[in-house]
Amino acid sequence: MPDEALPTEIELRVVTPERPVVSERTTAVSLPGKDGRLGTLPGHAPLISELANGVLFYDHGGQTKYMAVLEGFAEVLPGRVTVLAQAAEMAEDIDVERAERAKRQAEEQLRQHPSDEQTEPQQTALQRSLARIEAAKQKA
Ligand code: ATP
Repeated sequence: MPDEALPTEIELRVVTPERPVVSERTTAVSLPGKDGRLGTLPGHAPLISELANGVLFYDHGGQTKYMAVLEGFAEVLPGRVTVLAQAAEMAEDIDVERAERAKRQAEEQLRQHPSDEQTEPQQTALQRSLARIEAAKQKA
């Protein structure tokens, strides 16, 4: 019966508190989950996953599109993937100089911290910059 047929596409939406970043139909999405990479095809079982700082990629008419996603959650449904991230940028929109600057700054601050001090904000900033640099590298 058509109503019960599995979807053949995924409606991918990526939104941040600032803006909608992506709204596209695709056939495959790969997400950086907190517990590892999560690949989804149409018809995937429903789940909610926490996101890590990393690279999300998806099929775009036979090409692969890459983006950086910084923290948040993903909801996977058979025909839809919704990502709510703190920040997200398409690879081609990433300012690599800025990300490199953020990386240098985080590394410098980490060097200055004695090992027993709380360094979570610096670790997070470092992970964010690395995710952006990694996504930007893939844009070709
Ligand atoms: P920075 O230290 O460079 O500001 P950040 O991780 O503190 O980095 P965010 O708070 O995540 O920055 O982002 C603030 C805004 O700037 C968001 O709209 C985000 O998409 C954008 N942004 C941050 N870094 C970059 C970048 N390297 N290229 C493009 N946009 C960026």
